[in-house]
Amino acid sequence: MISILNIVEDTTVDGPGFRTAIYAAGCPHRCKGCHNPQSWDISNGTLWTFDAIMEKIKSAEFSNVTFSGGDPLMQVEAFTELAKQIRRQTRKTIWCYTGYLYEEILASSMLSQILPYIDVLVDGPFMEMLYDETYRFAGSINQRIINVPTSIVNKQPVLWYPEF
Ligand code: SF4
Repeated sequence: MISILNIVEDTTVDGPGFRTAIYAAGCPHRCKGCHNPQSWDISNGTLWTFDAIMEKIKSAEFSNVTFSGGDPLMQVEAFTELAKQIRRQTRKTIWCYTGYLYEEILASSMLSQILPYIDVLVDGPFMEMLYDETYRFAGSINQRIINVPTSIVNKQPVLWYPEF
């Protein structure tokens, strides 16, 4: 089971193209200027089964998937299992937003378990002073949009760029 605030189909702001966005409940980061402080308390979410979430994801035939929140990594074991099921059952790409830095995730055996199953990580806390409304797919310019498989191979964070 995963505590979920909301599932939004066909969003176009949480990564390229149409995406099914799974908004996790619970966030430990408490960024100043957070767009959704109600997301901080994990008990504000509703418990969803993996099967019910997968049904939603698969019903959006032409949409890829984004994990957002809250912070999905507060429930990293559950989101890792969800990512594995998406990998096994679909060809959809997975973006994951988190308030943790890529380096913090790599240094933690608990947090890093999700990395092999996601395509792109948008990392770091939201910083009000670095907010830029023109920065596509992230809130503040300190947040990096990281190509995870390439970063793992290169042993350092490599930024994601759209394929033309
Ligand atoms: S990581 Fe996101 S959800 Fe969590 S406090 Fe920061 S802006 Fe809000």
